[in-house]
Amino acid sequence: MKRFSSPDEALNQVFGYEEFRGFQREVVETVVSGKDALVLMPTGGGKSLCYQIPALLRDGVAIVVSPLIALMQDQVDALEEVGVHAAFLNSSQTVEEGALVRQRLHRGELDLLYVAPERLMTGSMQALLDELTVSLFAIDEAHCVSIWGHDFRPEYGELSILRERFPDVPRIALTATADEKTREEIVGKLLLNPTPFVASFDRPNIFYRIVDKRDVRKQLLEFIRYEHEGDSGIVYCLSRRSTEELAAYLEGFGIRALAYHAGMLPEERARNQAQFLREDGIVMVATIAFGMGIDKPNVRFVAHVDMPKSIEGYFQETGRAGRDGLPADAWMAYGLQDVINQRYFIDSSDADEFHKQLCTQKLDAMLGFAEAPDCRRQRLLAYFGEKSEPCGHCDNCVTPPEMLDVTVAAQKFVSCMYRAQKASGVAFGAKHIIDILSGNMTEKVARFGHDKLSTWAIGTEMSDREWRMVLRQLIARHIVLVDALNHNILQLGPLAGKLFKKEIEVGVRKRVVERRKRNTSSERSAALLANMSLRSQKLFEALRQWRSQTAKDLGKPPYVIFKDTTLLEIANERPATEDELRQISGVGEKKLLNYGDDVLRIVAEEN
Ligand code: ADP
Ligand code: ZN
Repeated sequence: MKRFSSPDEALNQVFGYEEFRGFQREVVETVVSGKDALVLMPTGGGKSLCYQIPALLRDGVAIVVSPLIALMQDQVDALEEVGVHAAFLNSSQTVEEGALVRQRLHRGELDLLYVAPERLMTGSMQALLDELTVSLFAIDEAHCVSIWGHDFRPEYGELSILRERFPDVPRIALTATADEKTREEIVGKLLLNPTPFVASFDRPNIFYRIVDKRDVRKQLLEFIRYEHEGDSGIVYCLSRRSTEELAAYLEGFGIRALAYHAGMLPEERARNQAQFLREDGIVMVATIAFGMGIDKPNVRFVAHVDMPKSIEGYFQETGRAGRDGLPADAWMAYGLQDVINQRYFIDSSDADEFHKQLCTQKLDAMLGFAEAPDCRRQRLLAYFGEKSEPCGHCDNCVTPPEMLDVTVAAQKFVSCMYRAQKASGVAFGAKHIIDILSGNMTEKVARFGHDKLSTWAIGTEMSDREWRMVLRQLIARHIVLVDALNHNILQLGPLAGKLFKKEIEVGVRKRVVERRKRNTSSERSAALLANMSLRSQKLFEALRQWRSQTAKDLGKPPYVIFKDTTLLEIANERPATEDELRQISGVGEKKLLNYGDDVLRIVAEEN
C-alpha cells in the first residue's frame, strides 16, 4: 500500500516543496490516473517530480528508463535522502548487488527502479517485470529514441514493446529536446494517445553571449577569472585532446580544472565526474560526452570554446548552467575556424546524402544564431517554435552591436577569388586571397604573379581579422564554399551571383564587446547576499560549512543534503522550531529527521 493519498501530501512531506511548478500537477494527475504523458521541459524545469510523485501514489514499482548509468547512484542517493525507496539495475553492479535489488523488488520494497534501456529489454528483466506490479514506466531522455535527434540510441527503439506488453501501465516520456520531429517520433514509438505537456523553454536566469574568437584560451581564462572565480563551470571542446590541454592550461593559472572525454579510462572518467559533482569550484573541461543528466544545480557557467553543430546541442549544453535558478552564464567563442571545422565534419562523414543535408540545415541554423545581431534568446526560443520579445538579458540586447555594411568588401573578396582562380587555373585558400587583397607580397603571390591581378591591394582598409569575419559570413551563408577535404581551398558557392547583383547584403559587427560590466563572481554573490543582513550572511556561511563537512562525511554531493536556495532561505528566516524549519522550501520529513537538529542548533548558535 502506498503511503500518500494526494500529490500535495507527497510534494510537501517528501520533497519539502510548497507548490507544484508549471504543469507538474497536471502531469502527475495524468499519470496517476493511468494515462500516458509526454513532458517537454527545459533542463532544470523539474521533470523528475513528474514521475517520482506518481511513483509514490500508484501501487507497485515505477520503472525509470535512463541511459545515464554513471548517474544512477546519485539519483538513488538523492531519493533515499528524502526517504523514497529506490534502487538501480545496471552493468556497473556485481551479481550479488543485482540479486539484492531483485529481492527488494520481490518484497515490494521499492518505489522506483532505474534501469538502462538495454538492460530492460533482456529476457530475464522482462520475466522479472511479469512477476511484479509495475506502477508506471518513465522514459527519461526520451529524445534518444529519435533518429533526428543528436543522441540517437538504437536500444530506445525497442522500448516500443512496452506499449504492447503492458497496455495498462501508464508511460511518461520526458525530454529537454523540443523540436517538432523529435516530439513526433517519441509519441509514435513510445506512447499511446498521450497528453502533451510542453513548457516554455526559456531559461531566464541564463545570460547568453557569443564572443569573436581570437586567442580562445586566453579569452576563456579572462572570462573565468573576471566573472567566475571559484565557481563551478563546464567548458565544452570539440576534441578529446583539447580537453586535456585546456584543463592543464587552466590548472597552470590556479583554476581547478578536470578533463572528461570518451577516450579516458572509465574509472578516471567516473572519478572526475564524481569530483565535479561533489566539490564546488571545479571547472570541467569536456567533450559533449559529458553532461547528459548532470543535475548539479550550481553550475554557474557553461563555456563553448568550439561551436556546437546544432542549436539543440547548444541549448542542451548551456542548459546545464544555473539549474538552481540563480544567475548563470552561457559563453561561446566563435570564429572562422568553427565554420570550416563543422562543414568539414559534414563533408567528410560517410553518412548518406539525406543525413548530410539534415546536418547542413542544423549547422546553418546554428551559424545564423551565432552571427545574429539581435536577441539571442528570442532566436533560441523561435527555433523551438516559441514566440517572445527581446529579452534584455543577452549580449545583443545589453549592447546592440553596431553593424558595418561590408557588402562591397564581400564583393571584392569573391571577385578576387574568381580572378585568382581564372588566372592560375586553381583555387586558393583564405590566407592567400586576403594577402592579395591586402597587398602582401608573399612568396606565393610572387610565384603566381597575383600582384598583377586587378584585385591586388584593393582591400588595404581592412585588417586580417576583419577579412576573416567577412569570409566567415560568406561561408556561413553559402556564398563561398570551403573544400575541407582539399586543404580548405575556397570555391564560389551557389549564392555568389546574388552577391554581385546586390541581392544579398553582408554585414559584420563593428566591435564586439567582450566583457560584461556587471557580474564578477564576488559582485554577484554580493548582490545575492546584499538583501541579507550581515547576520544572515554569517549564518549562511556557517550552514554551508556544516553542509560541506556533512557531505564529505557521507560521501555525497552537498546539494543532495540541501540546495543553496534552501540554505539561503534558512539563513533569512532563522527557523527556531521544527515546525518553522518544515516551512522552508526543500525541507521534507526525512531531512527534518536527519538534519533538523543540526540546522536548528546552528541557527541558535549564530544568534
Ligand atoms: P530536470 O530533470 O527537468 O532538469 P529536476 O527534476 O532536476 O529538473 O529539477 C530541477 C530542480 O528544481 C531540482 O533541484 C528540484 O528539486 C527543483 N524542483 C522541482 N520541482 C520543484 C517544485 N515544485 N518546487 C521547488 N523546487 C522544485
Ligand atoms: Zn536578448
